[in-house]
Amino acid sequence: MLPCELIPEDMLVAASLTLRRDEPMWKHTTFKTGGPADFYVQAAADKPLAAAAPLFRYARDNKIPVQIIGGGANLVVADAGIRGITFDTRTVSKTGAYVNEGAFIVPAGMFSDDAAELAAQNSLSGLEFLAGLPGTAGGAVWMNARCWEREISGVLRGVDVLDEDFNVVFEPFNADAWSYKLSPYQRRSALILAVHFDLSRGGRGDILKQMSEYRIERDSKGHFNYPSAGSVFKNNPVFGKSAGKIIEELGLRGLRIGGARVADWHGNFIVNTGGASSSDIRALTQAVQQEARRKLGIELEPEILFIGDWR
Ligand SMILES: Cc1cc2nc3c(=O)[nH]c(=O)nc-3n(C[C@H](O)[C@H](O)[C@H](O)COP(=O)(O)OP(=O)(O)OC[C@H]3O[C@@H](n4cnc5c(N)ncnc54)[C@H](O)[C@@H]3O)c2cc1C
Repeated sequence: MLPCELIPEDMLVAASLTLRRDEPMWKHTTFKTGGPADFYVQAAADKPLAAAAPLFRYARDNKIPVQIIGGGANLVVADAGIRGITFDTRTVSKTGAYVNEGAFIVPAGMFSDDAAELAAQNSLSGLEFLAGLPGTAGGAVWMNARCWEREISGVLRGVDVLDEDFNVVFEPFNADAWSYKLSPYQRRSALILAVHFDLSRGGRGDILKQMSEYRIERDSKGHFNYPSAGSVFKNNPVFGKSAGKIIEELGLRGLRIGGARVADWHGNFIVNTGGASSSDIRALTQAVQQEARRKLGIELEPEILFIGDWR
């Protein structure tokens, strides 16, 4: 029997964790693709994420891989699924944020849009740019999410993590470790538990108006026309233009492999037009890269993450 199958029941119960076998990951990704997660564990709505520490320790002691996911908004999960444990941090709850010593503190599993909304309701300005961003606060930190020329690292005071030795620690923000679409957590296997934002007082009406404009603009740019994971490639300033513009000029809008298509309205979006597999999405991503390499001699770097069993 595999160590996964021996995960002690009392450990899961104590942490209010829910375990499901062979959970289809298309249900948990915004691309709506992805095969089964062998052992899918969902965080409890009523307990801090740190309650899952014994599970993480058990996994390490038994050499079981753990894949953390947030909103699945930047993920392409292999059609063969994910081996080992998949730990879903989403709490779906809109409570649990609080202010302490001037910081606005949000559980990592809270949706970024909800975090922005709660800040606005409390007349706190700084998270407007997260309005309408799919995914969780933890995922946004991991990705150093960036919208409207603003990024997470610009409003971060620090992060509570379950570190690699299973200690719950507060890690203050250190600007040297962050850059465009890069966070220090990409080089680590820590679980982000909560995010401390540095916000300022603002007019509630103005904040809400700005957020509403951002949401409308996302809608009007076709972000939610089809399942996707947002921009596929990073923008590289060396290229002198955005990845979307480069792809458009290569004439690749509308290019299709299986059910995956480069959006007609946005060169840097690949969408699932219905029935796409993750392999379709990966093949299309590679086809675009190949064209950019062949015709322009440049390397487009994917921003979306290919996770799971791609053997
Ligand atoms: C329509 C659309 C528009 C988008 N627009 C933008 C945009 O404007 N700007 C932008 O930056 N992105 C954009 N994205 C991408 C996506 O919304 C962001 O990358 C988002 O921050 C991902 O968060 P998530 O919770 O879904 O993370 P996931 O996709 O679930 O995970 C991403 C990574 O974070 C890690 N992770 C997640 N939570 C934790 C945690 N608690 N602890 C440790 N690791 C964790 C995962 O292991 C994974 O490696 C868009 C996506 C869509 C679908």
